[in-house]
Amino acid sequence: MTKRPEVVQLAIQGRLEELERDLGTPAFFADSKCKDADPTLFFAESNSKVAQAKDVCATCPIRQKCLDWALENAEEGIYGAKTPRERKKLRAGADIIDINDIRIMKEQRDLILNSALDKAIAYFRVNERTIYRWRELLNPTQKAS
Ligand code: SF4
Repeated sequence: MTKRPEVVQLAIQGRLEELERDLGTPAFFADSKCKDADPTLFFAESNSKVAQAKDVCATCPIRQKCLDWALENAEEGIYGAKTPRERKKLRAGADIIDINDIRIMKEQRDLILNSALDKAIAYFRVNERTIYRWRELLNPTQKAS
């Protein structure tokens, strides 16, 4: 049985606007306290270095924005004064779409909406009707021809 692409699942859930997330590093990081700090501190394992990194974060003016961003986009490193393990606990139970999911779903959307019909059929191993149905879900203003 064919697996429905994640991007189509997102459309069915009425969450397509989540695809418009900017995949680059947000501009607010220009105000970060760590921009002049030793970057290795934020990826260190030792307790003393983790504590030093957290000290830098403690006075950072964008700490909450940084943490919010990292909860959705960063697996490694200290962000917003939280280690990856601490962020994992914060995420528990939350339905978070990370940056890699967004990249994959944007590629899927592009294939479904913009590639030749034959290519989309071959890639997703579905019939023509399914591709037309997915196109309508992903772009309700585009009608099947
Ligand atoms: S909260 Fe910490 S990791 Fe995030 S930008 Fe500020 S100093 Fe850097």
